[in-house]
Amino acid sequence: MSVTTQTLESEQLAILGGPKTVPQFIPDLFHWPIVTAEDEAAVLDVMRTARFSGTDITRQFEKEWSEYQGVKFSLGHCNGTAALLAAMYGCGVVRGDEIIVPSMTYWASALPCYALGATPVFCDIDPVSLCMDPRDIEHRITSRTKAIVPVHYCGYPADMDPIMAIARKHGVKVIEDVSHAHGTYYKGRLCGSIGDVGAMSMMGGKSFAIGEAGMLSTNDQLIYERAIALGHYERTGEIKDPHLAKFAGLPLGGYKLRMVQTASAMGRVQLKYYPARIKEIQAAMNRFWDLLEGVPGLRAHRPDKEAAKQGSTMGGWYNPLGHYIPEELGGLPVAKFIEAVVAEGGLSGRGCNTILHTHPVLNQADVYGDGKPTRIAFAQRDVRQSLGSLPVSEALLLGGRCLGIPWFKHDRKDAIERYAAAFKKVALQADKLVNR
Ligand SMILES: *Cc1c(COP(=O)(O)O)cnc(C)c1O
Repeated sequence: MSVTTQTLESEQLAILGGPKTVPQFIPDLFHWPIVTAEDEAAVLDVMRTARFSGTDITRQFEKEWSEYQGVKFSLGHCNGTAALLAAMYGCGVVRGDEIIVPSMTYWASALPCYALGATPVFCDIDPVSLCMDPRDIEHRITSRTKAIVPVHYCGYPADMDPIMAIARKHGVKVIEDVSHAHGTYYKGRLCGSIGDVGAMSMMGGKSFAIGEAGMLSTNDQLIYERAIALGHYERTGEIKDPHLAKFAGLPLGGYKLRMVQTASAMGRVQLKYYPARIKEIQAAMNRFWDLLEGVPGLRAHRPDKEAAKQGSTMGGWYNPLGHYIPEELGGLPVAKFIEAVVAEGGLSGRGCNTILHTHPVLNQADVYGDGKPTRIAFAQRDVRQSLGSLPVSEALLLGGRCLGIPWFKHDRKDAIERYAAAFKKVALQADKLVNR
């Protein structure tokens, strides 16, 4: 690190009246998605030709997405929640079934199964990857388990090899939730093409961002056709499965889940540039963490050197976060650390999602008038999980063991050095904040 950043780190903390490490916010460094005249022209063309609800552009986007993912079929959806619902139905999840899913994720990894009469069973996460812990899956499998839903959390690839082995052994499907991990590789394989089906959000805040949109990708024709049958009545004429084909013309599920073509038009343009753009994000984010190597209290959330050598990456580094280890900083609570970083002009926040297993919707809500909590009514046994049942997920959130870090979209050395210096300065002077 340059002499200047060393000086920055030894100055008085900004929260105690010292100078800011990052004097100025640079919007362009963080702005996303990158939209050019080419995106604008593609979207305007849809508006001017009034093809919002057609499927011609969506089909082109699906074809190109399939080529990118290396799968046979892709099906555009109105959002990621819809794509996950369709993936669950595609895998045969129906009334009374259970799916195994992490508790530390956005609710849409789990809750769409309620619409199918199924219930989530939550598993814990690995403390390093923050993805589904393969050691916490098998004992949760019952005769009613239909699918396992790994989430590639904040871009980190879930450990798919053992997850696939467990799923194959027990004859259950694997639905990858790729909403955080477009373009992430697991040991050289693109996430979303490893399980039976991949489903992902492409909403405006995600790494692949085209509005409100979602995509389902699979090599399995029956999963693809069941997804069409559920929510794409205008395409049911293409279904080959003789049982499903009988119902062509109306959606089986009563859903209409297609992607609006302003999104698919933007998606086609975004996809052309996506690999190059996330390559720059990867360079920037790795630069940030390399600068913080060895700093007490902070650890990168990224595949280690060995895993990186095997071809695992972080995709577009959606919602990047770091591990926070309060015991290395005199017990300084993460909220105080974040406050001090923000005072430096740095960017930080809670980082992780809220846990799902303790939420009232999973414990008390009677959504469909069964006279008992939906989760019990559907599972036909009490699968509720109380506080204390998933210690790693709970510690991450309630124990304050992670924090958000800046999500750089460009690899600008000087700026990134300043942001890293803000985190390092606070970590090195944490003792001044402990009793404050
Ligand atoms: C955003 C998100 C979804 C849902 O996608 P929407 O497009 O918002 O419906 C699903 N799973 C995860 C992990 C997400 O972060």
